[in-house]
Amino acid sequence: MVDYQKLMEDKLDQLKTDGSYRYFLQVHKSARHFPVFYYEKDGVTKRAVNYCSNDYLGMSVDEDVIGKLSFVLHHSGTGSGGTRNISGTTSQHKSLEQTIADWYTKEAALVFGSAYMANLTALQTLGRQLSNAVFISDEENHASIIEGIKSSGGQKRIFRHNDLIHLEEILASLPVSQPKIIVFESVYSMTGTIAPIREIVALAKKYHALTYVDEVHGVGLYGKTGSGVCEQENMVTDVDLINGTLAKSIGVLGGFVTGSAVFMDFIRSFGSGFIFTTSLPPAICAAAEKSIQLIQGDPSPRTLVSGSVSYLRRLLDDAGIAYLENRSHITRIMVSGAEKCRSLANQLLEGHGIYVQPLNHPTVQVGEEGFRLIITARHTRQHINELVIGLKKLLVEADSNHLQEQ
Ligand code: PLP
Repeated sequence: MVDYQKLMEDKLDQLKTDGSYRYFLQVHKSARHFPVFYYEKDGVTKRAVNYCSNDYLGMSVDEDVIGKLSFVLHHSGTGSGGTRNISGTTSQHKSLEQTIADWYTKEAALVFGSAYMANLTALQTLGRQLSNAVFISDEENHASIIEGIKSSGGQKRIFRHNDLIHLEEILASLPVSQPKIIVFESVYSMTGTIAPIREIVALAKKYHALTYVDEVHGVGLYGKTGSGVCEQENMVTDVDLINGTLAKSIGVLGGFVTGSAVFMDFIRSFGSGFIFTTSLPPAICAAAEKSIQLIQGDPSPRTLVSGSVSYLRRLLDDAGIAYLENRSHITRIMVSGAEKCRSLANQLLEGHGIYVQPLNHPTVQVGEEGFRLIITARHTRQHINELVIGLKKLLVEADSNHLQEQ
């Protein structure tokens, strides 16, 4: 007889042994106090500052966004009650899609339950429906992209991260007549590196390939109206398909793809993950649209984030704490070893009220563990000072004490 319980326990034990088992901290999120949150420890309520939230602009606690959500919620109820095909296409869905398309100066957009689902569905659909298509995918692409490509059953070639020479080698090796889709992210979430969008698009044009960019970590933070790195680089119209989230900078929930009317009609018509699922609640769509309008109209929160990130990096330099160099808002500190990384994160939380996310395998490669530090528009200079004081105590002073004891 097969012992299913035992099979699963063995797999879980394996994760615990190699230090990659995931522990979730249960938090009480506070709209009033963000980025501060509360959590329970041994029956006591404790306070901590969140340095790993993706709510980069604090829009999830913005009064106007909350107000819009509450207003529409009372008018249209909680759920949409249907798939997009069966009464789930409300005026709020259409309005949000138009706003997104206009933001990216594209002809149309489609909204999904999440950006994960948007990536999965869009890539799956392209791979399944475009006969003989090959995906050419950056090696550091997100899990949702990898799953989308895999489940499409299409061919794939992986290029080294941001390596244009390798990308061109692959493109040049493929038959001219074969459909090709280059898939990459604008800002890579684990290392904070930024893609050379202009150069990738130039190669795509030379070899007649489509370009698909995941702007999930760029939305809200880059470009004149905050639509992302493509806008900042003046490349929005040159990229064929753009994916983004409504759940990070925009602070609500959902994801999207935007592109030409034909591409959107194609994904809408063949995309299983778009058609066979209940659509987002209308109030969520309205709140996301409100948030986008606020982001478009006021660049000051994104300017604040980039100023605060520079401030953080100056303090880290002064404290002798190394981080990966990049041009984005993501500051990555390396702490090699899954156990060490988790233990330091626990000490930061319990001893200093600092919440950072330990990055372990499979999110990052073994040996590349570390912390991903996020400073939002709601973090004050005081919050940043406290973060660096805590990190210095644990990373620098603990190391030098250890050396002295040897
Ligand atoms: N793409 C990237 C690069 C991400 O980091 C994430 C989420 O962390 C997603 C897509 C999925 O976004 P969502 O949370 O809206 O599903």
